[in-house]
Amino acid sequence: MNDSAAQPDATVRLADYRPPAWRVRRVELVFDLAVDATVVTARLHLQCERDEPLHLDGEELELLDISLDGRALAATEYRLDARGLTIPGARDGSMLETRVRIAPAQNTALSGLYLSGSHDSGFLLTQCEAQGFRRITFFPDRPDVLAQYTVTLRADAARFPVLLAGGGPDGTGTLPDGRRWARFVDPYPKPSYLFALVAGHLEKIERAYRTAEGREVSLRIYAEADAIDGCGYAMDALERAMRWDERVYGRNYDLAIFNVVATHDFNMGAMENKGLNIFNAKYLLADPETTTDDEYRHIEAVIAHEYFHNWSGNRITCRDWFQLSLKEGFTVFREQQFCADMQSAALQRIDEVGTLRRVQFPEDAGPLAHPVRPAEYTAIDNFYTATVYEKGAELVRMLAGRLGALRFRRGTDLYFTRHDGQAATIEDLLAALGEANDLDLSPYLAWYAQAGTPCVTAQGDYDASTRRYTLTLAQQTAPTAGQPEKSPLPIPVRLALFACDGRRLPLHLQGEPASVGDECVLELTQREQRFVFTDVDARPVPSLLRGFSAPVQWQYACSPRELALLLRYESEGYDRWNAGQQLAAAAYDALHAGAQDRSALDAWCATLADLFEADTAQLDPALLADMLAAPSAIELGARHDPLDPERVHAAREAIEDALAIRLGEVLPARYHALRQSESGALDAPAQARRRLQGRVLALLLRADPPFGAALAMKQYEQAQTMTDRLAALAALVRAGAAQAEQALHDFRARYDGKPLVLDKWFALQAQAPTREALARVQLLADDPAFSLHNPNRVQALLGAFARGNPVGFHRPDGAGYHYIADRLIEIDALNPQNAARLAKAFESWHRLEPQRRAAALLALREIESHSGMSRDLADILARMRD
Ligand SMILES: [Zn+2]
Repeated sequence: MNDSAAQPDATVRLADYRPPAWRVRRVELVFDLAVDATVVTARLHLQCERDEPLHLDGEELELLDISLDGRALAATEYRLDARGLTIPGARDGSMLETRVRIAPAQNTALSGLYLSGSHDSGFLLTQCEAQGFRRITFFPDRPDVLAQYTVTLRADAARFPVLLAGGGPDGTGTLPDGRRWARFVDPYPKPSYLFALVAGHLEKIERAYRTAEGREVSLRIYAEADAIDGCGYAMDALERAMRWDERVYGRNYDLAIFNVVATHDFNMGAMENKGLNIFNAKYLLADPETTTDDEYRHIEAVIAHEYFHNWSGNRITCRDWFQLSLKEGFTVFREQQFCADMQSAALQRIDEVGTLRRVQFPEDAGPLAHPVRPAEYTAIDNFYTATVYEKGAELVRMLAGRLGALRFRRGTDLYFTRHDGQAATIEDLLAALGEANDLDLSPYLAWYAQAGTPCVTAQGDYDASTRRYTLTLAQQTAPTAGQPEKSPLPIPVRLALFACDGRRLPLHLQGEPASVGDECVLELTQREQRFVFTDVDARPVPSLLRGFSAPVQWQYACSPRELALLLRYESEGYDRWNAGQQLAAAAYDALHAGAQDRSALDAWCATLADLFEADTAQLDPALLADMLAAPSAIELGARHDPLDPERVHAAREAIEDALAIRLGEVLPARYHALRQSESGALDAPAQARRRLQGRVLALLLRADPPFGAALAMKQYEQAQTMTDRLAALAALVRAGAAQAEQALHDFRARYDGKPLVLDKWFALQAQAPTREALARVQLLADDPAFSLHNPNRVQALLGAFARGNPVGFHRPDGAGYHYIADRLIEIDALNPQNAARLAKAFESWHRLEPQRRAAALLALREIESHSGMSRDLADILARMRD
């Protein structure tokens, strides 16, 4: 045994990449499984590529035996340290056998082989991405070593009735000592991070599926007995995802069995192990009584995401971890396309852009900023970020938009054919997309290399005498850590021009022979460019960056009147919502600055009131619901340096209050109409109606608190769905209503023993925007249902507080920071990945106003002074402090 935390941490650089000196052609693994001590025997069939001593990664492994080509090695014939094993005597064609002991029940980091649930009845499972396999056995644990896996599991049949591993089953039987064995062979060579096994008491549901190519596949979803009834929705979603990938990308599933397993103990959302996906139960289990509409959408999205990885990730994997976005950015994009097809495309886009602005933009603007393809890392676990995933998806979206659907498909076909069975790079993807269409897409590589969010400014000038409208676009990216100089990037700016009566104008671009229609895409490739539109009758209102055509910040001096016009007349859901968000931000700016000018606020409230009161048959209720909310406190807070989160929150509250009061009289009637048509159905119209109803209820609590709270309590009690019940409870807690305590008490009793529902209960209270929320969080941390061992629970209470409570976490006395710092030290000793994720709540500390900034710094120093910090947490802290 050894302690990896005690080792100095080397920085790994993309520029230093070299192909592996040693490959493993075949690996045979035998697991003698038990909860406290599992013995792993590994036979590696080695291939030497370069004359270097064989080095294998290994962490926290107890080496029992080692032999090379059948001969036991003396202690002088190998070198063992905290990071692995070096064997100078290995030759090309050698077979190395190691036997190691590991302790699954002691593995609180949830990386490698670990126990989910209780010692006596829980089950064993693995998580290997990115570097968990080295905590199972000695191996060249890097994604460009592709090996064929034969895995034999041996275990007590009563304790571990279900045995699963990736690939396909290849025999089962009973050992002389009475234990059962089961063997699995994966015909597709794969990197070690895609290895998986599961063993224990599990139930399954099963469905037969026939691929478009005619392969019969058995789809199986496993969960513990008390959760198996909640797997049906995920099975339906899986089938939809498989059909969609056949139709849209021509990709078929390639094994006879596709297993999915749910666990409550998981660091990530889910994992795409070949033939054996493992899911955080949060993204798999669903039932009408406890699952909200949003959660149904998330489950469908994550099921699809992991399934799509079978091609974009598994059949073609990453050459090294710097290429993580090759599989993640592309797969998130595929998932987003799928969700837009299954659900409302407008809502989907609003969700995506909201996530970027709330999570990725702050990351890109802070000390943790990094390129979509990082140039270096010390702890790769810390690069599973919104930048790699969500910004990475936006880059693929730009490429897809540049090519159009048909040519993009031609490009992905070439990519999948050309690189099947390989470990590829981002250059490989761009080359295939380009070459299939005789285009050079290499200028887009700069997007992958440059951190920071470009800011695009626009200036419009209309000349009535020549009937010309000149749009000057300029781009600029602020310096980020290690990148003081920034280059201009290719930025597609989709735009339309509106006349003052709300008509979209036909566009005549100077230099183009004919009209380009009423929408076009301008390619901004320089620092500044000018685009001239001719035959424009009157000064137009531009709608810029339609559909969020590039992941950039936008600055255009629109008047409130112009934004209100777009809010009223924009035909596309996302653009209409976005105009409203900009108008709300302008209203917020004026209020925050203490300005007398209320024109933006008046325009926002009046336009929304008109839309709300009008016959809304043409307006999706879900879209209307989203339009009735101001941008998040995080987005608004990004406009300030120095930042006072409590003051941001107060100004945001004030504009939402103003909207509620403006709508005041019409809210009750609309609320009752929405309530009356509630049937508990789960179809899209019912979900949209519930979304609007929840929003109207929240506004009612602002417009008339006693009346609104009484309605909320009634909705809480009579709710037919979790969406309605949770919306009512959230509104009560948020408003600090007198009934909140009673409802919280009831909720806890009603859903006792349902962990995913209890997570919501913890999160709601942690996010109540008051300074007293800290005392509540401290109390909840002592609740018997709370555990620092469980990542979902930690994120539900401490993550929700630190990331989602601008008032409680950011108390000016620093008590919120201090409290989270203490918990971080405790969590880090158990689960470094979970601690590092929570620590990111401090990522904007340097922008805080002086008093809070000093308090946050003190809290960070307190963590830093603690000895024995993990590599993951130390890396995050060091980067935040640089
Ligand atoms: Zn993924």
